[in-house]
Formats: sequence, C-alpha cells, structure tokens
Amino acid sequence: MKIAVLRERAEGETRVAATPETVTKLIGLGADVAIEAGAGELARFPDADYAKAGASVGTAAATIKSADIVLTVRRPAAASLSGASAGALVIGAMDPYGNEGDIAALAKAGVTAVAMEFMPRITRAQVMDILSSQANLAGYQAVIDAAGAFDRAMPMMMTAAGTVRPAKVFVMGAGVAGLQAIATAKRLGAVVTATDVRAAAGEQVESLGAKFIMTDALKDASGTGGYARELTKDEQAAQAELVAGHIAKQDIVITTALIPGRPAPKLVSKAMVESMAPGSVLVDLAAERGGNIELTQPGKTITTANGATIIGYTNVAGRLATSASQLYSRNLVSFLETLIDKKEKVLAVNWDDELVKATVLTRDGAIVHPNIKFDAAPAAAAKPADPKKAAAPKKAAAPKAEASPAPAKTAAVAKPTGGKVKKAAPVVAPVAKAAAPKKTAAKAEAKPAAAKAAKPAASTAKGKK
Ligand code: NAD
Repeated sequence: MKIAVLRERAEGETRVAATPETVTKLIGLGADVAIEAGAGELARFPDADYAKAGASVGTAAATIKSADIVLTVRRPAAASLSGASAGALVIGAMDPYGNEGDIAALAKAGVTAVAMEFMPRITRAQVMDILSSQANLAGYQAVIDAAGAFDRAMPMMMTAAGTVRPAKVFVMGAGVAGLQAIATAKRLGAVVTATDVRAAAGEQVESLGAKFIMTDALKDASGTGGYARELTKDEQAAQAELVAGHIAKQDIVITTALIPGRPAPKLVSKAMVESMAPGSVLVDLAAERGGNIELTQPGKTITTANGATIIGYTNVAGRLATSASQLYSRNLVSFLETLIDKKEKVLAVNWDDELVKATVLTRDGAIVHPNIKFDAAPAAAAKPADPKKAAAPKKAAAPKAEASPAPAKTAAVAKPTGGKVKKAAPVVAPVAKAAAPKKTAAKAEAKPAAAKAAKPAASTAKGKK
C-alpha cells in the first residue's frame, strides 16, 4: 500500500497534505510513503525530516508511480496523477462546484476522487473535518491581520501618560471561524460584539464574553445541518438597518458569513464602510466566495477614500501554513484510519460507510456523487485528453502585486481551504457509465507561488466613540 504526497501546484498554496508527524502515523498503518521533494518546503517541513520519518523523497514521477492513495490539499490536475495505480484514492479538498469538468477528468483518469469538504458533520467525523480545522485557524488569523493593520492598541492600557481605550471589534457570522475570531479578539483585550442569523449562535457568542447583536425582526434563520439559510428581502433590510447603526461605531469588523451552496451574503455596504472612522480595518474572510463586504476585492488589501482598510485575503489558513498543514494532515490520517485494515495493513474501503458515500466523487471512470453533474456529451467531453486543460489550474492567479498567497476565486466557486461545499447527500448514484479509464500522461505543472504574504498596509486610525 503506497501513499503519495505531491508538491501542491496551485498558485499560492503553501500547505502540504502530510507532515513528518503524519508520515510516521501512515507508516504505522502499514503504508509506504513517498513525498515529492520540496512538498513541505513552504510549510517549513524539510525533505530531510520526511526522510527521517521513513518516507522516500523523490521526483513527482517516482512519487506517484504505483501509488494506491494520493493525499493532496487542493484538487490535483488529472495529468499529474499519471502512473498511479488504477482506482487510486485521491483524497483532498476537491472544490467540485464550478469545476465539474476537472472532476470528470479525474474520473476519466481512473482515480477515485474523495472530497474531504463533503465530510458529514457527525460526531464520528469531527476529527476529519477539514472545514473546521482550517476555519479555526482562519478566524484567528483574521484578528491577527486586523491587529497588524490597525494603528492603535487592541486592549485598554492605563499608563502614566493616560489611558488608551480598547478597540471595538465586530464579528459578523459566528460559526467556526467567527467564534475563533471572537475568542482571539477577546484575548487581545478588545471589546467584542458579534452577530449571526442563527439564534443558537447567541449563546455561544455570549459564552466567549462577547455581546450578541440581533434584530428583533429576525428571530432565527437556521437552515439545515446547523447552517444558515438565505435571508428574505425583509430580513435582509432589517439586518442592514441594525448593522448600519452598529458598524459606524466599530474600529475593526471581521466578516465570516457563508450560506451553503450560495455566494457569500453581502452584509456591509459601501455606505457602511464610509460611515467608519479613518484607520478602521475590515477583514473579509468570505472573500474567497465573493465577500461579505461590497468593496472587498478578493486577494487584495485596499484603503478606501475615508481611510478604512479592507483586507480580502483568500486562503487565509494558508497564511499559517505550518499549523494549517499539521491540522489538515491529521484530518486526513483520521479518515484514512477508517479506510485501512490495520491488522492486514491493506486498503479496505467500505463503500457503504456513510463517510465514504458522502465524500467519493468519482469511481470506476465515472462521476458517482449525486450532487456533481457533468454533461460529458458536448465539447468538454472531447477535451480531457488535452494535457494543457488537464494540468492548468482553473482558477485565476492572485494578482501579482497583491499580498495574498492564495489563488483568487470566483464567487460561485466553493472554497477548498476554504471553499465551502456542504450538504453532501449521503447517497451514491452513478450518473454515467464510462469506458475503461485511461490515464493522461502530460507533465505540465504550475510553479508554487511565494510562501508568505506581505502585511497589509496600515493606515492612520482615529476611532469614534
Ligand atoms: P459557515 O461557514 O457556513 O458560515 C459562517 C457563519 O455565518 C454561520 O454561523 C452562519 O450562520 C453565518 N451567517 C450566514 N449568513 C449570515 C448573515 N446574513 N448574517 C450573519 N451571519 C450569517 O458556518 P460554519 O462555521 O461551518 O458553522 C455552521 C454551524 O455548524 C455552526 O453552528 C457550527 O458550530 C456547526 N458545526 C458543527 C460541526 C460538527 O461536527 N457537528 C462542525 C463544525 C461546525
């Protein structure tokens, strides 16, 4: 049983799908582990440490050769998997919505693509939840980024020269990332308020010592599976009215609001940003899905005419590449443990397991996930053999002058590290029978991008009371 880990090809991706620690665990499960040279470099895991942990370190071709399992952060190009065993499991954030053609190419390449972001949110699978592990880090990093761009102190400071008032931080969306942002801002001494459209979030916000703000007009907009539903027009108007009054008094706003399968809701209008004092900072964690702030430019940090800074990093978890890789790779190991017969030390996938059913996208040459449809008939079907199409990352690269280490994404695309893709139906329904899988052999690859992003420019702050 060979497990391969390739260097991530997506521009700006800093993370890696296995660390020396998880290599040791994978070997303990009976696997031979092969790592492509340099795979962990941007996350600060040197090749020598992988070798010390027992992995073989080599070229991409040697790494992928005869692999039974390929661990990845982002969806790999089908062409990069050439040489893997037929039916090899390719496990990572597949970001399938809007990228159905690439999923079809993986099916055609004969691999079994497994989307970790489709993992059901049940107790047993909490240790495998990549959305939560990465969102936790992103929520923390959002506050750190805000503090870095803020020209004043976060906590109240009483000094001989006088008192500095604490910063006021408003967190919009109190899910995993939002709650971590609240906790981080509290630890830094800020006065924190938060809002969400799910009434249940109120208690969680208050348990962290922040004040929960919600309009009476909006009792509860909980949807299915603990997620939010989209607001009606009236509810949106009531929320906007509440937010408009509150935001004008804030120093820092952190937005994290998402709705499964929809573009991020627009919560902060241009006028609201203009109502804030110079030096205010807004961090839009939903930038990858189009942003919660009207003025957000995904992948960019901008300063408005009234002196507010809006930070729109995508792949925020990737800004903490070491921690993010550690958590992500442990999520993968936890899932792999359910796919391997530990006694016999062989792959033993139970295709009826609800975790497997929910996450497997392709199998035996076909797309098998009921939520992913791809019309193989038209032109697209004739193209997968084109190596350039198969190897080129589909997303636009983040603008060069920009600080973000992540690829810019369109609003409609679900996030990988990010990209939220939810509500996987626990049913496997093959949508098409494909001919015998045939691997493509192209080698085209993108270079990894620079690792760390520059800090956003700070601006002069003068908060309002
Ligand atoms: P998410 O990333 O889908 O959305 C972030 C937050 O934005 C959510 O709290 C959502 O309610 C909120 N939101 C949506 N529209 C909004 C709007 N218009 N205004 C303000 N806020 C808005 O959510 P998430 O972080 O994945 O968490 C969703 C829920 O799932 C939470 O209750 C979380 O505790 C729960 N969860 C459960 C598990 C599990 O394994 N059981 C794991 C992770 C999260």
